[in-house]
Amino acid sequence: MLASDLFALAHQAQNSGPDRCHWCGAACARVWPHDEPPGPTVFHVRRPRTSARFPGNSYICTGCWYYRRQRVTIRFLTGGWQDIQTPARHAWWITSHGAWGVRSADHAKLYELLRKPPLRFVLALRSDACARNELHLQELNDHEALRADTKLRFTIDHLVHEYTIHELESLLKTGAGASPGVNALQRYLGPPPAALTPGPQEKKERGRPPDAPDGKSTQAYLAGKINASGALAAEALVQDVQVLPSAIGGSSR
Ligand SMILES: [Zn+2]
Repeated sequence: MLASDLFALAHQAQNSGPDRCHWCGAACARVWPHDEPPGPTVFHVRRPRTSARFPGNSYICTGCWYYRRQRVTIRFLTGGWQDIQTPARHAWWITSHGAWGVRSADHAKLYELLRKPPLRFVLALRSDACARNELHLQELNDHEALRADTKLRFTIDHLVHEYTIHELESLLKTGAGASPGVNALQRYLGPPPAALTPGPQEKKERGRPPDAPDGKSTQAYLAGKINASGALAAEALVQDVQVLPSAIGGSSR
């Protein structure tokens, strides 16, 4: 299975056919001709470089066709969409259930997803230095089960990096990168969101009742509540009595 197979699945389609895709080599039904500029002619001294896996093949697969369309609407990871977009100008999170563009606003969400990734996914990150983020140069993760030490791959500008869930958790716990892949991820995504990192441990005092919402002690809070309202809601009274019966003393009898 290839990244383009997953991209096809994300669009409820499938790569199939007797031929191989010009770009990625996936199964291809010879429906869409490839869009690569013409090859060398007698006027070319050097052959132009191509990243196509099968440069001699004339057609592309369904996944590559979806990806290489121009002016499409792209949905983003944390909601929202943009019309008239070229997919290759975006970073991507792709699973069997969908394909989403990744903006900087989505980076916090990406940390969450990478902690508990699906069995099959592609993460194709792109910086402004990369003119086209090509689908046929992406790494597919396809596992039957994931362990903390399973090597998972992603790309930044087509450069392949690896991380494990254990290494990522360690970054979230200690704030320090645990591997070159996690460091690269952090450089791209920025620091992990505070919600995923453990805060300073709260000091708990034995036997002390919890403070009231406004910061007063529970006793002062409760006294104020009873004084302020002659018609105290029965429900609130019962609740308060359960929390701290001594605070209202004989008034409940
Ligand atoms: Zn293809």
